Amino acid sequence: MTARRRESGGDIPNAPEISMLNQNLVASLLRRTRPHSPATSMAGMALLAIVSPALFGVRPSVAQADRFANVVVEATDLGSGLYLLSGAGGNLGLSIGPDGTFLIDDQFAPLNDKIKAAIARLTDQPVRFVVNTHWHGDHTGGNEKFGEAGAVIVAHDNVRRRMSVDSFSKAFNDSTPASPHAALPVITFAESVVFHLNGQEINVRHTPPAHTDGDAVIHFRPANVIHVGDLFFNGMYPFVDVESGGSIDGYVTVIDAILPMIDDNTRIIPGHGAIATKAEFKAFRDVLADVSQAVKALVADKKSKDEVIAAKPTAKWDAKWGNGFMKPDQFVGLVYDSVTGAQ
Ligand SMILES: [Zn+2]
Repeated sequence: MTARRRESGGDIPNAPEISMLNQNLVASLLRRTRPHSPATSMAGMALLAIVSPALFGVRPSVAQADRFANVVVEATDLGSGLYLLSGAGGNLGLSIGPDGTFLIDDQFAPLNDKIKAAIARLTDQPVRFVVNTHWHGDHTGGNEKFGEAGAVIVAHDNVRRRMSVDSFSKAFNDSTPASPHAALPVITFAESVVFHLNGQEINVRHTPPAHTDGDAVIHFRPANVIHVGDLFFNGMYPFVDVESGGSIDGYVTVIDAILPMIDDNTRIIPGHGAIATKAEFKAFRDVLADVSQAVKALVADKKSKDEVIAAKPTAKWDAKWGNGFMKPDQFVGLVYDSVTGAQ
């Protein structure tokens, strides 16, 4: 593995319905989440849809652990020793082979045993590296246990920075405590890092702010597979985490930079939703660009946030994109915050 920093800015890059399992899981978590508890978590995409205070925390409590009891971690073979693992939370990417096990994101701590078991069915090698696509707890919740087990955790500088401190989300009226030491990335990068493992050149590249200000995409060039984290919610409106430096226009800019890097045969692992094609990623981008433009027009017309939401600028997209994680009004509210600079 080699790591390098660069001075210049980096360039860069439809979901199945939320399963009933996830909906139940999320509902259960919400009921059990206490304000200012370290036990909050982003458990499934329906969380926001329901209300969602408790989105980004990292560590569900012991009491919540049983809420994950029925989650099944499934592996999808992508060839070349690569797999998509899905359970509850962000999609995982996995590379196995003679050089060691490389994991992208790790969902929630209570799923750690299941994730390890799913990996153990594919390889007898422990996880050597974990790369986080961004700091949210449904992607980093397993860091602590993997770190304690000896994995080297790698992420963008801002992932470690945000995980290192207590934080509060006004959007969801929810606090997230600082992560324990073992959960923090031990190697961070400003722009990019390249792993040379298992016959793959694995390019990990920071993008301009979009979902958060610490996003990274992981491109397995020889295998023509790319994990884009929460830069892509396949088939649903994304959560634009404006409070973590995210931006709706950043999404469009970043996707426009990624699209030329991939082709019609590329398998795209989204942060949430089913594995996708370039055309599906482009469709997602076009929705975001359209909604951003519509909201900007309303803002230019001096509409208030409530008036913008009431104008339903997403109406023509809602039947297809508004039934998942983010409901239309919530999404429009965040787009408004993004385009006006409000938080
Ligand atoms: Zn996220």
